Amino acid sequence: MAVTDTDTHMSETCSTCERTTPHDVSVQILTESTKSKNAAFSREPYRVSECRVCGTTTETRMNNA
Ligand SMILES: [Zn+2]
Repeated sequence: MAVTDTDTHMSETCSTCERTTPHDVSVQILTESTKSKNAAFSREPYRVSECRVCGTTTETRMNNA
């Protein structure tokens, strides 16, 4: 897994903490396996935010096309 050095601290609402908390935000390229014969693997960028309070991670697919 590629490690980015572009971690940023963002204040976001955490559904677990039920309040706004600092988050570590990074973008990771995650490989998805699909059943498509034309694309055995699909590499999609995900925005990953981790709550610095409780550790809950939220992965949001950036390419929703
Ligand atoms: Zn939290």
